[in-house]
Amino acid sequence: MYDVIVIGGGPTGGSAALLTSKAGKKTLVIDNEKSITKKAWMDNHYGVDGISGPDMVEVGKKQATKFGTEWIAAEVSEIQTDNGKHIVLTEDGKSFEGKHVILATGMSVQLAEKAGITTAPGTEPRVNKIIDVDKNGKTNVKGIWAAGTVAGVSMHTIITAGDGAKVAINLISELNGERYVDHDIFKG
Ligand SMILES: Cc1cc2nc3c(=O)[nH]c(=O)nc-3n(C[C@H](O)[C@H](O)[C@H](O)COP(=O)(O)OP(=O)(O)OC[C@H]3O[C@@H](n4cnc5c(N)ncnc54)[C@H](O)[C@@H]3O)c2cc1C
Repeated sequence: MYDVIVIGGGPTGGSAALLTSKAGKKTLVIDNEKSITKKAWMDNHYGVDGISGPDMVEVGKKQATKFGTEWIAAEVSEIQTDNGKHIVLTEDGKSFEGKHVILATGMSVQLAEKAGITTAPGTEPRVNKIIDVDKNGKTNVKGIWAAGTVAGVSMHTIITAGDGAKVAINLISELNGERYVDHDIFKG
């Protein structure tokens, strides 16, 4: 059983998985490798002096897997919720159980709607529909969270990655029963 299953491996999902796995939570990312970020060039991501989308996604994946995130390429077809746990089914016939799920599916609310998650009209340019979340990133289904583009934040990598991290911190805090902070110290 995973503590957290993240669906979507763009800046949002990769960033969330980095935080949850670094916090010692058993984490799985399932991504279908169709991230829109792979079409982008970033000159506006603070602290990063120009990077291509493919490089950003690849570095993010490396960071998350370094801390123990398992990462698989697959299309998630369905999420079933049963007695407080979530069963994530993929198109190639596999299933994975998680205590929590983070939806980081970018422009797509299809999976969320199939799982009975409430959506709302989009507010950002070119985003038609988003998942309805509270200020912590929780959806109407207990244990299912949403972050990044699909949760309606502005479509910039620094914001989507930041939102993924925010939701991960809230989820870790809930699992730990106290507010969580992840600070490393520079020893230079
Ligand atoms: C041409 C272009 C240029 C851009 N330029 C900039 C820029 O200069 N600066 C900037 O800050 N931002 C830019 N952006 C925006 C930026 O790419 C996005 O804001 C942001 O990265 C989206 O991150 P995300 O993780 O929410 O979505 P995504 O990166 O799209 O990741 C979501 C992932 O979830 C996957 N997924 C969805 N459903 C499923 C499923 N059922 N099963 C498995 N996987 C699934 C998707 O296919 C995708 O791989 C640009 C975007 C485009 C298209």
